[in-house]
Amino acid sequence: MNPDRPNLLGMTPNELRETLAAHFIRRGQPGYRARQVEEWLFRSDARSFGDMTNLPLPERRALAESLRLEEPAPDTVSESADGTVKHLWALPGGEVVESVLIPTRDRLTLCISSQAGCALKCRFCATGWSGFGRQLSPAEIAGQYRASARWAAEHGRGSVTNVVFMGMGEPLANRKAVFPALSILNAGYGIGSRRITVSTVGVVPGISALAERPEQFRLALSLHAPVSELRAELIPLEKRYPLDRLMEALEVFNRKGGRRITFEYTMIREINDDPALIAPLAELANRVQAFVNLIPFNPIPYVEWRPSRPSRVREFRDRLEAAGVPAAIREPRGRDIDAACGQLRARRQGRSPVTGKPGDPAPVHGRPGAEGGPSGSSC
Ligand code: SAH
Repeated sequence: MNPDRPNLLGMTPNELRETLAAHFIRRGQPGYRARQVEEWLFRSDARSFGDMTNLPLPERRALAESLRLEEPAPDTVSESADGTVKHLWALPGGEVVESVLIPTRDRLTLCISSQAGCALKCRFCATGWSGFGRQLSPAEIAGQYRASARWAAEHGRGSVTNVVFMGMGEPLANRKAVFPALSILNAGYGIGSRRITVSTVGVVPGISALAERPEQFRLALSLHAPVSELRAELIPLEKRYPLDRLMEALEVFNRKGGRRITFEYTMIREINDDPALIAPLAELANRVQAFVNLIPFNPIPYVEWRPSRPSRVREFRDRLEAAGVPAAIREPRGRDIDAACGQLRARRQGRSPVTGKPGDPAPVHGRPGAEGGPSGSSC
């Protein structure tokens, strides 16, 4: 048996066809065998080569000898009172990542992770505080979809209709795996490109690369502040890719027809919710026809920040709309299971939450660093 057997779940449909065609030629088998396997992977949810019952037994065995079909292993599942379901996946090497199923009236959205931890250290994000673990592979990213979709079907939750890259990690800092994973989700599992959203904190070359793709994947930009100085206090990456360069990349993205941009704006009391910020926010949104999602900050153990008052969040929405910007208020879902899951990850890392370090010059209880912590994604 080949110890480095390639995992079929990490191959784009084109790579898969090539691999399987070569395999079955070597085996002296007819060409339609490759299509049979593809069908089992993308449509019929085979768990192993043994499940592929329309293939002769020796062929099932031969596949298992040279290839793998391996999903992330479920570690913990927590269900929220509001219907949100969080999976924690155990990955080889000891890392854990999470994905979240979020039901709304006519949709079932799956929020997936692209990295174990994150290197970008946004102040308000617990994943940033937990430090960077490692990049996920295409199979680990697309595998979250496959395993979650099965869980949803088996538990009467219906089919996953939308996928968002809003779990742990910065997807555009792992393009090597995220770009093939996009092809696998779209061309393999058949999720429409407009139902797949890549969320970024502003990796400019990644936005440009996504704009070059022929599919109309959606883009969410985690903006959180419409002026560079304030944004830089929340998001260290602002210093590398400042707002003016970011907006140029978004304008290019927006010019490619049909690609909607959403601004994510996490509202933190007395940090980024001054009404004076509404006009510059509206100006940026209007420049690229962005929809604005206003998300009350989900408190994390590392900073003493609080969510904006509901009246302030409504004021932002109403005044954005008056300025011609479509806007909505999004409550973070699954708050009751958020802590449980994230703390579990922190415990796996053998660390406990911290609120600051002595001598740290940052004004609000330290900066995100290499400490463990719960995920604070808005999912
Ligand atoms: N790195 C990507 C995707 C992961 S975060 C990005 O930044 O877009 C997904 C979303 O959750 C982002 O919009 C992020 O800013 C938001 N988020 C992170 N921590 C949050 C918190 N504590 N409260 C509310 N939203 C948060």
